[in-house]
Amino acid sequence: PTTSGPLPIQRLHESLINRIAAGEIIHRPASALKELLENSLDARATSIRVAIKDGGMKLLQIQDNGCGIRKSDLPILAERFTTSKLKTFSDLSRLTTYGFRGEALASVSHVAHMSVVTKTKTDSCAWKAYYSEGVLIPPKAGQTPDPKPCAGNDGTIITIEDMFYNTPTRLSALRSSSEEYARILDVVTKYAVHNPKVSFLCRKAGSPTPELSTSPTSDVGQAIRLLYGHSIGKELLHVEVSSTGAGGSHSRDTSADDLDDPERWSAEAYCTSPNYQAKKIVFLLFINHRLVESSSIKRAIESVYSGVLPKGAFPFVYLSIEVDPRSVDVNVHPTKREVIFLNEEVITERISDGIQQKLVGQSHSRVFEYQE
Ligand code: ADP
Ligand code: MG
Repeated sequence: PTTSGPLPIQRLHESLINRIAAGEIIHRPASALKELLENSLDARATSIRVAIKDGGMKLLQIQDNGCGIRKSDLPILAERFTTSKLKTFSDLSRLTTYGFRGEALASVSHVAHMSVVTKTKTDSCAWKAYYSEGVLIPPKAGQTPDPKPCAGNDGTIITIEDMFYNTPTRLSALRSSSEEYARILDVVTKYAVHNPKVSFLCRKAGSPTPELSTSPTSDVGQAIRLLYGHSIGKELLHVEVSSTGAGGSHSRDTSADDLDDPERWSAEAYCTSPNYQAKKIVFLLFINHRLVESSSIKRAIESVYSGVLPKGAFPFVYLSIEVDPRSVDVNVHPTKREVIFLNEEVITERISDGIQQKLVGQSHSRVFEYQE
């Protein structure tokens, strides 16, 4: 720079904008998989199968038996801000789906090779389409980009290959493929716990035995026993608290009025008794069925346990909180990893109290036993 004046402001190229945006949503294979799992669940799938090669960097494939995608929607499927889930701003406060911004598939198509095979119940065959940078592309040079008919079951298969091939810094920031695979397995495990009626399968491509395989079970407690093992399973305590429940802050009758109360909430936890002690906390938090993180809620729970566990010992805690969709803002983080909801402090306190009471009941009986 020979002059000291300002540089001209220039408009970024569309494909650069999209690639930057994609980087905010897709951090690593596990974050792409989370989006895909949520899409399958939004499509009301009851069976979800995941196949992985090289920690998801080489291949990430997810097959579901959900509602499928209409052939006529395929041309705009991977465009940014195309969605079947949101129409108006006010819909945001009624959301019952995971997705709403129409950015996930678009993002994937900007950082990886992506193809889709999909079939709705009324289609007579499945359709296969290839995408790059938001648009349909021909599978081979000389062919047209239109979706091609093929054989397939009802539902959708999304195949993602060579993730971050065009963003080398992102690729080099990833850990080993075994670490990325562990993260993928962690996401699938958590969704499998929260959705016990859906069967999940996760395997390395080419391996005959899946690392994770669930069949529909009765409840979350059962799923935790299955997926996290006996030592956690045999110490699980079940805690339920709600705005209308015993000792609730709202001690009104359940009237029609109450059902429409935006401050209504309920929470369910499965957490280990003081007999279980791990070196690190395992904390699964779902808010309105969304897997999220909250350091404040985690801290509150840890502090409850610090009263009953020795120093350096930690519990397993699954916590699912449901609040009125009108009182939660899911649009605060690009990956929707965090959400903001009304009365968070009060609700957290009530949940902590509920867990505390359960634990104290437990440790009393334990102390009593030891005194015998
Ligand atoms: P969003 O989930 O925010 O709508 P996505 O980019 O994740 O955005 O998906 C775009 C659209 O593609 C969805 O709104 C949905 O209509 C369709 N879609 C994506 N995945 C699936 C799937 N597995 N089954 C059926 N439809 C899907
Ligand atoms: Mg989505």
